Amino acid sequence: MKPLPITTGEATSRPLKTSETIARLVARDIVRRGLQTGERLPGEAAMIEHYGVSRESLREALRLLEVQGLITIKRGVGGGPLVGRVDPANLGRIASLFFYMAGGTYEELFQAWEMVEATLAEMAARNPDREAVRSAMEPFVTDSGVVGRDLDGFVRGHTDFHAVLGGLMGNRVLELMLPTLGQIVTHHIVVHSDPRKLGDTIHGDHVAIARAVASRQPSNARRLMAGHIRTMAAFFNDELGAAPDLIDWK
Ligand SMILES: [Zn+2]
Repeated sequence: MKPLPITTGEATSRPLKTSETIARLVARDIVRRGLQTGERLPGEAAMIEHYGVSRESLREALRLLEVQGLITIKRGVGGGPLVGRVDPANLGRIASLFFYMAGGTYEELFQAWEMVEATLAEMAARNPDREAVRSAMEPFVTDSGVVGRDLDGFVRGHTDFHAVLGGLMGNRVLELMLPTLGQIVTHHIVVHSDPRKLGDTIHGDHVAIARAVASRQPSNARRLMAGHIRTMAAFFNDELGAAPDLIDWK
């Protein structure tokens, strides 16, 4: 096994392919028109005419957006493209492919994950809009949001707490980028194990972090979050022995 070296420079000057350009134009039109998730986009014939491109290029462009979840395509009669979602999990999915090719391991991912989540908690605690912080943390101060018996509900509850903290950073770039690492880990755990075994620990951690964030204690929030992530990384590692493995998304 020999991973590829990480090299920079080539891609920054590569001109966009036609399909990539069209994908960007479709994205631009969605944003300019203020379209929201689930809203309908023009049909194929209309888009071909509007963008002045071939059917093949348009379909490739839509596929590019579809695999990133930015649009969904309803098949069959009355189907067509709909506006999708901006989900950090999709950014994580594509990033995991890069990490894999470069030989990135779960041990490295856990380390990076701890750093970014700790930053996220600290920034949330520093948010000057205290009213917004308090009301966002309110449901978690008493109930961490991880209750729920089914695996899906549990995972949603857990990632929801981290996503709400991300929303308090006041920086959409970080809000989108930082959770990608957690999404990769979460995906891995859900596929290979059951995080509900850690339910009580997660609950206790979240309550403590929520309190630190709500009462404006950035260094406490950072320390508690780092501990929380370390606990989870250790559990995942004991459970799966994943640390030396290459980062993957199945
Ligand atoms: Zn958590």
